[in-house]
Amino acid sequence: MSNQSLLEIKNLKTSFSTEAGPVTAVDGVSFSVKKGETVGVVGESGCGKSVTASSILRLLHEGTTKYEGEVLFEGKNLLKLSKEEMRHIRGNRISMVFQDPMTSLNPVQTIGDQIAEAIIIHQKVKKAQAYKKAIEMLRLTGIPAPDKRVDEYPHEISGGMRQRVLIAMALSCKPNVLIADEPTTALDVTIQAQILDLINDLKEELNMGVMMITHDLGVVAEVCQRVVVMYLGQVIEEGDVAEIFARPLHPYTKGLLKSIPQLDGDRSEKLHVIQGVVPPLTDVPPGCRFAPRCSFADEQCASQAPELQEVGGRQKVRCWHFEKIMKEEEHHVATV
Ligand code: SF4
Repeated sequence: MSNQSLLEIKNLKTSFSTEAGPVTAVDGVSFSVKKGETVGVVGESGCGKSVTASSILRLLHEGTTKYEGEVLFEGKNLLKLSKEEMRHIRGNRISMVFQDPMTSLNPVQTIGDQIAEAIIIHQKVKKAQAYKKAIEMLRLTGIPAPDKRVDEYPHEISGGMRQRVLIAMALSCKPNVLIADEPTTALDVTIQAQILDLINDLKEELNMGVMMITHDLGVVAEVCQRVVVMYLGQVIEEGDVAEIFARPLHPYTKGLLKSIPQLDGDRSEKLHVIQGVVPPLTDVPPGCRFAPRCSFADEQCASQAPELQEVGGRQKVRCWHFEKIMKEEEHHVATV
């Protein structure tokens, strides 16, 4: 494990046994998260982002899920820890915030009780102390009048507030790593910006590593330093955010970038949509997995699977023809 990495995922493979046979949702994924760094994991639904996140914490159904590879945290492979050891890591050292706060919160328990419970389980403190800490966490996440909010139930507060409560809960044990799975998707744009700012501020304050799962490259541009682009269970491009935005190499990343609405762009212009849909995991194309949707695909792409290769030190791409595509595009720009 490189000395700066908090969390290192190495060749992670997650398969499910289904009636139709084994299905591999995450297929050889590797990347790392460092202290004080936010890594964005992006892709459309069905690309394996959330399964990757759930695999890190081993949240998937035990009987039907098989994990291979390594998830290294503080020198230990989480995939090999006992259930008891894993319980100590979850919510304590590595926390997760999910997309839908309403389904993640208990509707019949007050907010204060829910946060305090998480603190009591992981930090073995008395109830009064845990309650005090819950109020402190609510204050930290920008919830007004936190000493009153603790006695309220989830349905009594807004969606944005509920998401803040979840973040307060996730951060109450001051984890080393926060995994945020589409934490702002269900929220309106203003609240989304506030929540992203909040995660960013708390990351700085607690010097955490953050893994931000999103389908939205706009969110990546806002808060991430590195980005991992996934397609059909594999990493297809990885690099520093500035570099990937300036010089995306994979046709899929290019498509995702073109689909971000530009604030200063022509609003009447139609947004680019990547043609086709992500195929089901039971029907993975034999060569390059993106080939059926790629306008550059040729025979080699259809029959041979490209490996993820390093380009210029900090960027990686999985495409046979990225150099040719880049040259063609440069030529196109030069001649327009
Ligand atoms: S390998 Fe071929 S099909 Fe796959 S992304 Fe590159 S050009 Fe497209």
